[in-house]
Amino acid sequence: MDTQMLIGSKFERGTETEEAILNPRTGETILSLPEASPAQIEAAVAAAQKAFVTWSKTTPAQRSGYLLKIADRIEAEAEGFAKLEALNCGKPINAVLNDEIPAIVDCYRFFAGAVRSMPGLVAGEYLPGHTSMIRRDPVGIVASIAPWNYPLMMMAWKLAPAIAGGNTVVFKPSEQTPLTALKLAKILADVLPEGVVNVVLGRGESVGNTLINHAAVSMISITGDVATGKKVLQAAAKSVKRTHLELGGKAPVIVFDDADIDAVVSGLRAFGYYNAGQDCTAACRIYAGKKVYDKLVADLSSAVSTIRFGQADDTENEIGPLISRRQRDRVASFVERASELKHIDITTGGKPGEGGGFYYQPTVVAGALQEDEIVRREVFGPVVSVTRFSDVDEAVNWANDSDYGLASSVWTKDISRGMSTAARLQYGCTWINTHFMLTNEMPHGGLKQSGYGKDMSVYALEDYTAVRHVMIAHG
Ligand code: NAD
Repeated sequence: MDTQMLIGSKFERGTETEEAILNPRTGETILSLPEASPAQIEAAVAAAQKAFVTWSKTTPAQRSGYLLKIADRIEAEAEGFAKLEALNCGKPINAVLNDEIPAIVDCYRFFAGAVRSMPGLVAGEYLPGHTSMIRRDPVGIVASIAPWNYPLMMMAWKLAPAIAGGNTVVFKPSEQTPLTALKLAKILADVLPEGVVNVVLGRGESVGNTLINHAAVSMISITGDVATGKKVLQAAAKSVKRTHLELGGKAPVIVFDDADIDAVVSGLRAFGYYNAGQDCTAACRIYAGKKVYDKLVADLSSAVSTIRFGQADDTENEIGPLISRRQRDRVASFVERASELKHIDITTGGKPGEGGGFYYQPTVVAGALQEDEIVRREVFGPVVSVTRFSDVDEAVNWANDSDYGLASSVWTKDISRGMSTAARLQYGCTWINTHFMLTNEMPHGGLKQSGYGKDMSVYALEDYTAVRHVMIAHG
């Protein structure tokens, strides 16, 4: 197992406080890893600065070549990466191997192509006697900070557009899930010129905080909690750094009376509980039409009660445990508080799983009202609430009545109703008759307190590059 950080071309262990890295399936410690010292963070930023001088001058075709090599190397070691991610996050091995790794490999390949064909305005004489052109140049040194729910995928979403755009990076994985980042660091050191990507370990309040406040860092890219995003904005305000924020969600799902309920139930069983609900797009806040509400609650509860988890043979599992005891207890406390309300009915689940792992039973909370905490706050666990609505305006108003604005979905057989409802939703993404499906060609990112950075797609490449205007007078 790789345990060293990547600073320039050197592999080093951190020298500061040790963090225990846990196996969420058992609660046992896998190993402990020390975090980076201020001097090591300084060295990582210095290495990125030095590398920027030459990396920022490489051609898109050259950078594309490097990205394709990274993709090939991850693909060649797919099993090793999947085992490590499954161990560190408790994810079912098949979910990592069959869902995540192909999407991660494709992310590097997408940006390898996208950077060679970036769109923009045509050059021309917008003032008589002057030719104007648009450039897109690198921003500089990017501090990239990732969460624990999809460690290797968030690393891909951050690194691929950043280095494709000609930037250099100091990357910090979550202190809870650093193992695949350390394995990828070995590949990055093999493939990329020295210092283009540096990987440092540590907690948010220490290493993360030093990085986001570093004078040489030009851009901060973070996926995490809204509270963390606010800290990033405060740090960025001091020196006016560019920020790229992906911060949580509470996805509404509007199910109209004419929806195909079997499709809704199978969609919610999959997309409400995938990754044990630790997903900012999870289909967790259901609004069901009056006529379908009872059937939806009954069918969903029965379908959710069959979700397989906690089996000794991991290939049998559909979902894993939560990432930590703290997260499991947080999820349990949300459900406990909800169950104390008279109008709420926990129709399946509602308890922690057995054994030492951080499991929580897949849960349906029926009868929830718009003002309930379970409807308003991000639970980030295998818990879905269902609320009855009476007309389309009520459903849309409730769906939009949220601090978050990341993802949403609408289920109906009437495509006009689907399109007109989608148009009224204030979310970065609206799916119609599906949920959760992402593709590297399309942007992922939010509105409101979900943040404003876009991951994946040419829009991410735009976020990680600076638009510049060059004008030539004809003389
Ligand atoms: P978190 O905010 O606690 O941590 C995220 C990262 O930020 C970690 O690497 C952490 O070390 C770092 N960090 C924490 N405090 C910091 C500080 N003061 N300065 C610098 N860095 C700091 O979030 P988490 O618990 O790891 O992840 C779960 C959250 O992430 C959820 O709220 C979830 O919705 C959100 N999330 C959002 C998206 C999205 O695309 N919008 C994707 C995945 C996760």
